[in-house]
Amino acid sequence: MKHLHLFFLLLIIFVAISAVHTFAEEFCIDADFPGGNIKVLGIDGDTVRLQQDLRDTAGSWFYWSFRIRGAEGRTLNFVFTEGVIGVRGPAVSTDNGLTWCWLGDLGFSATKFQYRFGTDEKEVFFSQGMNYTEKDLKRFLEKYKDNPNLKIETLCKTKKGRSVELLRIFNNKKVPDFKVFLSSRHHCAEMTPTYSLEGIIETVLSDTDDGRWFREHVDFFIVPFVDKDGVEDGDQGKNRKPHDHNRDYIQRIHESVQAITEQIPKWLDGKPLFYLDMHCPWLRGGSDPLHLEKGTNEYVYFVGIDPKEFEFGENSWKGVQRFGTILEKERKGTIPYRALNNLPFGVSWNTGANKKTANLQKSDEWGATLPNVVFSSAIEIPFANAEGVVVDTNSAKALGCDLARSIRIYLETLE
Ligand SMILES: [Zn+2]
Repeated sequence: MKHLHLFFLLLIIFVAISAVHTFAEEFCIDADFPGGNIKVLGIDGDTVRLQQDLRDTAGSWFYWSFRIRGAEGRTLNFVFTEGVIGVRGPAVSTDNGLTWCWLGDLGFSATKFQYRFGTDEKEVFFSQGMNYTEKDLKRFLEKYKDNPNLKIETLCKTKKGRSVELLRIFNNKKVPDFKVFLSSRHHCAEMTPTYSLEGIIETVLSDTDDGRWFREHVDFFIVPFVDKDGVEDGDQGKNRKPHDHNRDYIQRIHESVQAITEQIPKWLDGKPLFYLDMHCPWLRGGSDPLHLEKGTNEYVYFVGIDPKEFEFGENSWKGVQRFGTILEKERKGTIPYRALNNLPFGVSWNTGANKKTANLQKSDEWGATLPNVVFSSAIEIPFANAEGVVVDTNSAKALGCDLARSIRIYLETLE
């Protein structure tokens, strides 16, 4: 009888422990979706210990993106091993990536956050930035599917067999006066500019004076995802070994860079070229261009190329400054911009030191070598903060509209 009591007591304890154990781990964390990237180091009760998955990145970088399912009504803590969370916290999506918002505001912890899951939040996505992958581009392009001015082509296939989208906007009844090349995701994790690209495309295809002008005078060659495999696989992209897509313009080991460098010279057809490659800076640090030592990562700026290395270099910087003056004046969106923000060659990180060998060339540097180039530069658009103003999907898109209008004025006022 006594033994029987003991048996039941042990059974109750065992069931109780199992129940607690099951409860603690019943939520599920994964990165098995486009753009997913996470290493789970351990789960202790309500605390999840995490690390970004660096894969083939040289050195450290900060991209991560994961999904939690089955944590309705719970509060969980997420702790990273190093500072990989932006200044407004993680980007959060509760609708499968359709919309995103920042969890917090300026001053957010770089290493940890807590999230209280609503009782109906069955699935929540968390990411270092506001993810933008192929499905987002498809959704955006859906509304233009019957638009005769937009042609969705394939630039090339990637190593993994994916199609790299090439968007062409041109008037096939007229010889264009100008050529405009636009690209984002040479560094696949730098997603903010792809939202700005939407703003540019929207303006160009719009039933406005600007839209009509563009469709009358300009032939566009737009590559939204230069590192398509990296975008879909959720890689860091920057500092990919042996070198990333934006250092590949001499060696050309990446399919999309091969395709761009083969196709652009033929497409140019002797017309003046406006060449803009779009990036995000480092995650944190510096919102004041007057204090570069604190970083150049929380404001919008253009990057100058070496005037000694490139014949067009001197004129390139003049062009960047002239474009900057136009953008400063024309800006209607909330993201601030001042021509003063532009980073000339030789200042802060822009010294060429990060190229390591002469055998590496950036996209905008290659653009500067093309015949009849009238503008070639890279823009840096922050992930979450521009001089205190929120950078998100909407404000980044509005910046794109400002960029489009400025491109028109720049081209119309060429000397
Ligand atoms: Zn970049």
